[in-house]
Amino acid sequence: MISVNEARKILSENCTRGKIEAVPLGQSLDSIVAEDINSPIDVPSFNNSAMDGYALKFDVKLQRWKVNTIVQAGDTSAYKIERGEAARIFTGAKIPEGTDTVIPQELIAKNEVSGEIYYQQDKISSGSNVRLKGSQCKRGDLILKRGTVISPGIIGLLASVGLAEVKIYKAPSVAYIITGDELKEPGSPLKSGEIYNSNGPMLEALLKKTGVTEIFPRKASDKKEELQKIIDEALEQQDVLILSGGISVGDYDFVKECLENAGVKELFYKIKQRPGKPMFAGKKEEKWIFALPGNPASVLSCFNQYVKPCLYYFKGRNNVWNADSELILAEVHKKKPGLTFFVKAKTNGAEVEVLGAQQSFNLQAFSTANCLVELEEDKEEVKAGTLVKIYNL
Ligand code: AMP
Ligand code: MG
Repeated sequence: MISVNEARKILSENCTRGKIEAVPLGQSLDSIVAEDINSPIDVPSFNNSAMDGYALKFDVKLQRWKVNTIVQAGDTSAYKIERGEAARIFTGAKIPEGTDTVIPQELIAKNEVSGEIYYQQDKISSGSNVRLKGSQCKRGDLILKRGTVISPGIIGLLASVGLAEVKIYKAPSVAYIITGDELKEPGSPLKSGEIYNSNGPMLEALLKKTGVTEIFPRKASDKKEELQKIIDEALEQQDVLILSGGISVGDYDFVKECLENAGVKELFYKIKQRPGKPMFAGKKEEKWIFALPGNPASVLSCFNQYVKPCLYYFKGRNNVWNADSELILAEVHKKKPGLTFFVKAKTNGAEVEVLGAQQSFNLQAFSTANCLVELEEDKEEVKAGTLVKIYNL
């Protein structure tokens, strides 16, 4: 049996990146950009007005201006404004040739008879209210670094320079196999002796939250031949295989044997942790296999600690093995030494409180939990005020 840190080390040494592919901007949210991006154009690509108002050539010697031209946003005409003239202009419209300054309309007064405009000149300086060509970026400027997580703002940035696609690390396709003769789907009646399949919907949600879109659910009974067929099929078709249940030492736990038959190379089996001790990880060529113990809290905890970092790395993220934060434990917590504990907990951002109902079958604590707390292997008691590692749920 290996320690939590050994398991992390083995996985991190075996992690590989996904393929790089260009996707439409609209599908890139939360992906990792796989190349440095230089702007193909100047932005703005023309000098334009920052206000609704009047464009004119700044000139303290003049007192009033005639208005013969109107320039709307989107007007691509080439206007030429002569000395003593101004153009009516609106936000985003191109600054016409012969002008360099925009006077906001609130500062303008109009001579009712001649229609000429004038304004209080000490309130404005030359070049005011003009957004200059290339003031966001110049053509060729580095605007986004490889390895950045794509946010809604980044999507806006890339669109603003005219890019319709972005190169990202593709997420893997993932199969998950739910094993167990006792399982019924939520929504159907239960006989005594049966339970609802909570791991299936939970894994589906965990995968989606990790940015996986190609998800292939499968179910297998606790019969060896059937399980073998489904495992072989999944390994042929998907990049990553996750199994729930059947990896412990019971008479009907055939997952490990079937994985061996399928040619999966073991990276490790069993980690000194609670929950989720009998977790298995393996590889078959480039494919990843994670067999998670069936208890729902084990599935969630093992996914959070081992599967998620591997998927994130595949998707191009860095520092995937770090805790999300470190916070102060609110109250003393006793534990069994010799196992790392991952306990359901709730944090307010300042300190963290370990919740009750920590048994691995019991999901109730997830109604309020927002993180897992890691309590170190050798500790028997973690005192209030200790800095502990936090993993967001
Ligand atoms: P196993 O690892 O197959 O021995 O399962 C361990 C425990 O987890 C047993 O009590 C199972 O009934 C339970 N379990 C297994 N799979 C699921 C599932 N999909 N949803 C909820 N509980 C499960
Ligand atoms: Mg089982």
